[in-house]
Amino acid sequence: MGSEALLAQIADEVRGCTRCALAKGRTNAVPGEGNLLSDVLLVGEGPGAREDATGRPFVGPAGELLTELLGAIGWQREDVFITNVVKCRPPGNRDPEPIEAATCSTYLEAQERALDPAVIVTLGRHSLQRYLPGARIGAIHGRMRRSYTGRHVFPMYHPAAALHQASLRETLFRDIRGLPAALLDARRSLDDERATPIQAEEVVVPISRTDAADDAEQLTLF
Ligand code: URA
Repeated sequence: MGSEALLAQIADEVRGCTRCALAKGRTNAVPGEGNLLSDVLLVGEGPGAREDATGRPFVGPAGELLTELLGAIGWQREDVFITNVVKCRPPGNRDPEPIEAATCSTYLEAQERALDPAVIVTLGRHSLQRYLPGARIGAIHGRMRRSYTGRHVFPMYHPAAALHQASLRETLFRDIRGLPAALLDARRSLDDERATPIQAEEVVVPISRTDAADDAEQLTLF
């Protein structure tokens, strides 16, 4: 199965998901949307009121700022794929509970495998904790890091934070201006790693797209 079909299948599973309590309060689940072939995955925290009403990520005030931020580097929403740590709105926009994030992580992991982005942009601390546990956003925003699974992670503050604290707006714009160069660096280092000759005595089992497809098909079994 190709990545587009996989992402569509994951979205269907998310829309029918009843695996945690958040499902009971939702109007719409919000699987994510964007360019299914993008090298950049943006991961926010969870849907708010407008996202819940429409089934689309980042379409409220934080989303307007996100669109502006992407515009500052000449990108559009359609150039990236946008999703969240949890796919259903936490009541009253409270923080997702660890059990909710853990339960929903199956979907985010499947989306990561299907998209296989060069860079994951974390928006806010819940998303950051998923990739770099224990990291402090104030210390590492705007600088690319590798996650423990080897992903290139570009941490940013959540756009909603700048709606409450005006000084963060400038920080967000400064940070996002570093994203295109970070993307090029990530692509270069991934290309170098893929080109590294395999030791003759090593037995290496290649990880193929078929594995990703199998994994996504397993979603129905959870
Ligand atoms: N905040 C998020 O983290 N995600 C959304 O989709 C909207 C607001």
